[in-house]
Amino acid sequence: MIQELLYEYRRRELEKHIRQENVYWVTDLCRCPLKRIYEFEYPELILQEIYNPSYILGDLVHLGLEELLKQLSKEGHLNYDIDVEVENEKEINVDGKKIKVRGRADILLKGDDVLGIEIKSARGDTGMPHEHHILQCKIYSWLFDTSKFILLYITPDRVTEYEVKERASEDDIVNLIKDTRAPRWSWECRYCRFAVLCPFKSLKS
Ligand code: SF4
Repeated sequence: MIQELLYEYRRRELEKHIRQENVYWVTDLCRCPLKRIYEFEYPELILQEIYNPSYILGDLVHLGLEELLKQLSKEGHLNYDIDVEVENEKEINVDGKKIKVRGRADILLKGDDVLGIEIKSARGDTGMPHEHHILQCKIYSWLFDTSKFILLYITPDRVTEYEVKERASEDDIVNLIKDTRAPRWSWECRYCRFAVLCPFKSLKS
């Protein structure tokens, strides 16, 4: 019974991210560009994500922390107003074509300035902070006009946070959209759901 509710929740979340030709999500800019193309072509492969236990665990960590911080803010333990799951988009011009860059920040803290929190849950703590997560925070800072982003990792081995103060520029965003390197990161193919059909799958680690 609860299992079904969890799957329904994830199904609804996936439906909020229906692909559109002129829309790039921030996450599209931090990963192999072929994945976005394959998501248009093979949407059935994405449905597996509904049932992935580690994604469900990640959702629960996000929801739990967001609720906790909302409660702490209400009780006066946090000197910021808090917004969770905040969506924003900016329109940019890429070679004469209007492109919308859209993203959803886990948490925005609003006081004298605005800062963001990006929550990452993982099975282990090696290699933190990850390059693609730092890139994601820089793009979010551009999208949400924040002074900085806190990259918060919650793993069984370590709970820790990193400050990302740099902000991506519009030129950086345009270059990322135009970058066709596939994969973008050497490890990506090992975890890619499209590796079962992709001719560019790389076996490097
Ligand atoms: S298998 Fe590798 S190159 Fe192909 S879509 Fe996945 S990450 Fe990109």
